[in-house]
Amino acid sequence: MAETLGFIGLGNMGEPVAENLRRAGYDLRVYNRTRSKAAALTEKGAVPVTNPAEAAPAGGVVFTMLADDRALEEVCLAEPSFVERLGKGGIHVSLSTISPATARRLAKHHEKYGVSYVASPVFGRPEAAAAAKLWVCLAGPALAKKNVEPMLKAIGQGTFDFGEDPGAANVVKLCGNYMVASTVATLAEMLVLAEKNGVSKTAMAEMIGKFSPLHHGYASIMAEGRFEPAGFRLVLGLKDINLILETAAASVTPLPLASVLHDRWLASVAKGRENLDWSAVILDVAEEAGIKSKAVPSSSD
Ligand code: NAP
Repeated sequence: MAETLGFIGLGNMGEPVAENLRRAGYDLRVYNRTRSKAAALTEKGAVPVTNPAEAAPAGGVVFTMLADDRALEEVCLAEPSFVERLGKGGIHVSLSTISPATARRLAKHHEKYGVSYVASPVFGRPEAAAAAKLWVCLAGPALAKKNVEPMLKAIGQGTFDFGEDPGAANVVKLCGNYMVASTVATLAEMLVLAEKNGVSKTAMAEMIGKFSPLHHGYASIMAEGRFEPAGFRLVLGLKDINLILETAAASVTPLPLASVLHDRWLASVAKGRENLDWSAVILDVAEEAGIKSKAVPSSSD
């Protein structure tokens, strides 16, 4: 008989990740706050449940892919919670990008119920998730990590193990997103500079795209102004920059560039662009430079 897994959070990332687990032969019990988002998986045989606790197979495995620290804490600490229902021998595979401090706090909370918390934040956008090409950063108890290996194989192209401290995988994920946010901001400024000097953004994006896949993806989204539907919502990008700054403050690590990124993302949210892809920060850069090109429409156009 196929093993049953619980899956909580079927947003841009959760839905394709859950679908890959289903394809790999696992039976799924799925929960999403907005019920309609469970419809596609339900049609393919996943069982929808009406609260997160019902998703948990006793002593089994639950995956979560929720927006932020608050959402994850609400779901984990609810009464009754899926953690309680998982109980002794259970494993929580936590895919969200959250703070290292929250991961450590949740790991301690889970211990009270005999549940292992496996921090597993991922790199890759929804297209990578759909193609089972995510990279997974891992941290947590060794045996639990070993037990979920086959599941992680079904959703990604590789895992990197950062040891037992549950916060370590989240530190790595935040460092990686610091690199990506800096890249997105620099690309936005480069493309606007090129345009102001009479060079086509599309031609520039095509050339830059040859250098690296990361640049290729973001440069082409920016050049084409393809910010909707968002692969990674701009407001979640701001959430990550806030987590980077928090982690830096807690460890007394000055990150001047992160403060610049914070204001760039905050300005975009202030202008109502929170649900556009986070590469839409180019709209803000273009406005500052006094241009508003047809290729980069504002969300209010
Ligand atoms: P998303 O599309 O906005 O989905 C967020 C999910 O969290 C939805 O299922 C949402 O439910 C749920 N949620 C939010 N607040 C909740 C609450 N208070 N209680 C219960 N459920 C709640 O976000 P996403 O892009 O899938 O991202 C999910 C996580 O993965 C985030 O931590 C993000 O930083 C990380 N991540 C994203 C990407 C990417 O490219 N998108 C890549 C790597 C990592 P509703 O449907 O009801 O709103």
